[in-house]
Parts: sequence; C-alpha cells; structure tokens
Amino acid sequence: MKTTLVFLFMLSCSAFSHGPGKDNDFAGKRILFIGIDGCRADALVAAMERGLAPQMKMLSESADGLLTRQFYAGGELGTPTHQPTVSGPGWTSLLTGVWMDKHGVKDNRFIGGRFQNHSHFMRHIKEVAPSSFCSSFADWPPIHDYIADGSRVGSKEFLDVKFTAVPDAKRHFIDNPEKDIEVRDEAVKTLRTQNPDAMFVYFGQVDEFGHGATDSRGSFSPDNSLYVNAISHVDSHVGELIRALRGRKEFINENWLVLITTDHGGRGTGHGGDSDEERNIWLIVHGRELPREELLNKATPQTALVPMIYKHLGIQPKPVILAPSDQKP
Ligand SMILES: [Zn+2]
Repeated sequence: MKTTLVFLFMLSCSAFSHGPGKDNDFAGKRILFIGIDGCRADALVAAMERGLAPQMKMLSESADGLLTRQFYAGGELGTPTHQPTVSGPGWTSLLTGVWMDKHGVKDNRFIGGRFQNHSHFMRHIKEVAPSSFCSSFADWPPIHDYIADGSRVGSKEFLDVKFTAVPDAKRHFIDNPEKDIEVRDEAVKTLRTQNPDAMFVYFGQVDEFGHGATDSRGSFSPDNSLYVNAISHVDSHVGELIRALRGRKEFINENWLVLITTDHGGRGTGHGGDSDEERNIWLIVHGRELPREELLNKATPQTALVPMIYKHLGIQPKPVILAPSDQKP
C-alpha cells in the first residue's frame, strides 16, 4: 500500500513539474535562445576567423551545431510582410514567429503592436504546459515592456523570471557592456539554481558599438575593431552560459536546443534599410536533432525560429481567440 502511494506521488510529480534532467513537461527537451542585437554576419565570421569569437565558432563547428548565413530579417520584399531592419519589428518577429503584417510593430515605438493575437512564444509554452519554467533576460527594456508584457492575458504573467537591466539612455547607453554582464550573471544563476525549460537571453552592446553610441569611433563593419571587439566580449558571455548549461547536474539527461541570432545587420553607423548588409543575418543552432540540410541549403526567415522551438519541445500552441481590435501595447 505504502509503495503504491509513493509511486502515484512520483507519477503526478513527473507529469507536472519543472525538475532537472528529463523531469519536465517536455521529456528533457529545453530551449536556450541567445539574442545579440545588431550583429552583422560578416563581422561575426571575421571575429571567428580572427580567433575573437571562439565560443560561437566551437558551437557552430561541432558535430551537433551549425552556422547558416542564409537567414534573413526584414520580411519579404514587395509584400505586406516587408518590415524595417530595426530592433522593434526584428525582435518581435523572432519572439512571435510572424512578420509586421501580423504583429503590427513598425519601429521601436511599438505603436500598433498586436501582441494579444501574435504573442511571445513563451506565453504559448505556458498555456500548453502551465508548470513549465520560462525565463527572459534583457537589457533593452522594450523586449519585456512591450513584447512580453503586451502578450500577457490580462495581467497573467507567463515568465517565471523576467530580468531587465536598464542602460542609461541619457549617457547614450555607455554602460551597455556592464548591463550585458548583469544579464549574463542572472541567466547563469538561473541555469545553476533553477530548472528552466525555455530561456531567452539578450545582449545589447554590439548594436551600441555599431551606432558609435558607446564609443564614437564605432561602426557596423567587420573592419571596425570596436565593433568586432564587442562581438568578442559577447562571445565570452555565450561561453559562460554554455558552461553553466553543461555544468547542470543532470545535463546528460537534458536535450537542449541552443539558438543564437541577431535582429538585423547594419551599414555605416545605422540600419533599417533593405541592403544585404542589413537584411542578411545569421543563425547558430546547436542540438541533437537539427534540420541540417534545410537550414544550410535554404534561405530561412526570422519567423521560422518560433516553429522550430515548438517542434523541439513537441508542442502545438493553443489556438488564439482573436481579439476583435488591435491591442495597443
Ligand atoms: Zn540599432
């Protein structure tokens, strides 16, 4: 009798829990999505070739990993999906899986965003698996203020950890590299002390160096050492995250899909247009079961990331009851 009770208790635990190893709602499958704002593809590759981005090089060249440069931002030219290559629409597409014709975000003001109908992917994970553990870490506040909070139903929070480091806009984001460290440290702490099913970790300094905001000599170019150094700095943060992930007690029983990408490229000290340098970005994927051929041989849109996440976790998002009018953030 006693044995039966213990067995039943364990059964109910493993069916609804966010434990380590395989003890989660997705048979051990988990997501780590790292976002590096404004990181041009050729500059990332230059950093790798010069030995300045060894962590991302290792991930992309390992047997379980790949780097594709056939990944694009900005929607489909000449159609209603066409969107500016700036952060608002870019991160919204990466986190919701749709372009501007659906999400409604035209720029970094987020006016007209339709997040109730086209929500942050973690809201959908939480709807399907209420006991899952979803977390997000960012030092660009709109990621949480608009995309995450705008996706909430009423005030119902779907993020178990929502860490926002706020850089000083008055000082032209000069403290952005420090904020990236705070983001890294909180994300590492969560990997060490919690059992996250899905994590999004955003780093902002690469874009700020591209704009010449943190240092006026910066620009979006593989030949600009300040810009490439910022990529190198963030690469070391990626390394810390991967070390924390591999150091998890039951890492051997966990099946992590690691995704690393950017929202847009850049040209000179800006971005937003339709040039190859702004639209053609990159994606690093690391995991046990990758659609390798498809990713390496076919152009993949930013909107393909969210479906890849659902596929990895083995979930079907619940259908959204469409709000009659556009929801303003
Ligand atoms: Zn920018």
